[in-house]
Amino acid sequence: MRCLVLSDIHSNLEAFEAVLSHAGPVDCTWCLGDIVGYGPDPNACVDLLRSTSHLCVAGNHDWAALGKLDLAEFNADARDAAIWTQKQLTPDSLAFLEALPKELPEPALERFWLVHGSPCHPIWEYILDERSALAAFGGFSTAFCFHGHTHLPILIRQVAQKGRDRVIWSQPSREPCTLGPERMLINPGSVGQPRDGNYQASYLLLDTETLVVEYRRVDYPHRRTRDKMLERGLPARLATRLAYGF
Ligand code: ZN
Repeated sequence: MRCLVLSDIHSNLEAFEAVLSHAGPVDCTWCLGDIVGYGPDPNACVDLLRSTSHLCVAGNHDWAALGKLDLAEFNADARDAAIWTQKQLTPDSLAFLEALPKELPEPALERFWLVHGSPCHPIWEYILDERSALAAFGGFSTAFCFHGHTHLPILIRQVAQKGRDRVIWSQPSREPCTLGPERMLINPGSVGQPRDGNYQASYLLLDTETLVVEYRRVDYPHRRTRDKMLERGLPARLATRLAYGF
């Protein structure tokens, strides 16, 4: 099965459309949460995701838009964008987001586990250092866990060194790579708000039989997204950061 794995769309319709078109035909789309928040097109992004054959988990910005998180936990810009998003969402979009699970360890996924933040704390925890990565490997029972939330494309392997569990981080290259033989945490990066210094939308393609993964970037008309955000009264800093990829 050819699978499109993506995360953190963040209401960025231009980036999401560019990814779907660039990826080409796929058998399924796995979305790792944060469909909404920050960007100008929350309902259109929900509708576009729903038009695909997909599996999806909830992210912290999805929960914020549903009023399921205390907005005091967000920085001022994210809070303003969450309040704006709450006012835009249609009953259909709200029902879709409300129904999203926190994690997907489905038997049908076999070797794969899907979550937004980390398997230990699916909605909020960032996997950013050795401690959180080591803990994360204890939080899922399959070989591979796809996660998002940090907006950084990264591969993390679990290895045993001198009788201790360690983790090895690597930046994905443009060359296809094969998952395993170690257990791995895999982050596809962000569609709608990359934070690795590259403004292009980030995603990956997975062949679930061969385990070959291909990380990809695609250009999109980010100035159009920026202009919409400014027109719609979203925080200027969130609009201008799209051009810089952070
Ligand atoms: Zn996010």
